[in-house]
Amino acid sequence: MNSIRVLYKKGCGPSSSHSMGPKRAAALFKETLPENTVKIVVELLGSLALTGKGHLTDRAVLEGLDFPNTEIKWRGETFLPHHPNALIFHAYDKNGKELVPPKTFYSVGGGDLEDEGENFLPSVIKSGYPHDSITEVTEFCRKYNLTYYEYVAHFENDASGLEAFLNDVWQTMKGCVEEGLKRDDPLPGDLKLARRAQKLKNKADDRIGIVRDMNLVSAYAQAASEQNASGANIITAPTCGSCGILPGVLYYFHRHYNIPEENILRAIMTAGLFGCSVVARASISGSQVGCQGEVGTAISMAAAATAQLWGGSMSQIEYAAEIGMEHTLGLTCDPVFGLVQVPCIERNALGAVRALSAASYSLATDGMHLVRFDDVIDVMYATGIDMQAKYRETAQGGLAKIMRERFKNR
Ligand code: SF4
Repeated sequence: MNSIRVLYKKGCGPSSSHSMGPKRAAALFKETLPENTVKIVVELLGSLALTGKGHLTDRAVLEGLDFPNTEIKWRGETFLPHHPNALIFHAYDKNGKELVPPKTFYSVGGGDLEDEGENFLPSVIKSGYPHDSITEVTEFCRKYNLTYYEYVAHFENDASGLEAFLNDVWQTMKGCVEEGLKRDDPLPGDLKLARRAQKLKNKADDRIGIVRDMNLVSAYAQAASEQNASGANIITAPTCGSCGILPGVLYYFHRHYNIPEENILRAIMTAGLFGCSVVARASISGSQVGCQGEVGTAISMAAAATAQLWGGSMSQIEYAAEIGMEHTLGLTCDPVFGLVQVPCIERNALGAVRALSAASYSLATDGMHLVRFDDVIDVMYATGIDMQAKYRETAQGGLAKIMRERFKNR
């Protein structure tokens, strides 16, 4: 599997697959442009076209190309077999002659790209770990007496670089939550959605016990998620749409339990390891497997981090991650107006609570469980492939459909 340095990317929201990836693809295509290019045409296919306006895909492509004469063509009716998120770039000279063969990229989730030859185009130096499954990782750790985070550190060949990377990830996550808590301007887009993180936090401060804690962790996840929806700088964890859950949980521990920063960084490593395993075995792309691949994976990652922060054993950490996904299986992707707002933001807020709940359940057991994390990831992938396209980030089914009809009739 890939390194956590590939999974956690810093960039602007609102969507890793629909804005971050396409922007990278555009920048890569620009590097290959012949000097006599006077016009570029970009075809956005499948899910990129169907939810691209809300996800700001066109803006991302235009920014990545930074080329004055660019035309965007929306082709939502066309899905290529390799992946639902495809972009095709064309370059023309002043006589309208196509200068280079059209270039197809697939934005496969989490900001990652594949090209037509299915070659992975890493966003940072590519390094990785020798196992794809958590079962194999766990066996390796038991054999050599390592924890999950020690496994990550062991296979990262640049220790000081890793520490700097983790610090940057954590500081960005923390900054995102803190900035989100300060803001009360409406979110961009036709829904004109009001932000809620600040109010949730204030409400939490008036409450006690479990209700207070649930409101707090939700408020922090909501803050990061609202920042993503506004196009702010975030960390994919594992995607933009699901980027509030892990920061929400970590910030809760940081702010209310005085957890040493070193432990937070270790939790980020463990969470990342579980996220990387999902990328290796299945998919984190909402247009391929629905929201279970995005929010489900984020809950698993945050549940693993929480179980570790609470001192759980390796079995309990793996169980917490497994619970996180198992009860999210079948979750569809149906963003209203194609914006990464409804149901996405609330889903992050509630996902953070669910991560705490999964870890607390796991730690109340001895960690023995029937279904392995790898099993539930395989089921998630199979379920996602079986899902009808209207529930996979096309804004044609579910909440997206019903809300579109309601707004149309107003
Ligand atoms: S519904 Fe889930 S998968 Fe779809 S855009 Fe929102 S967060 Fe991403």
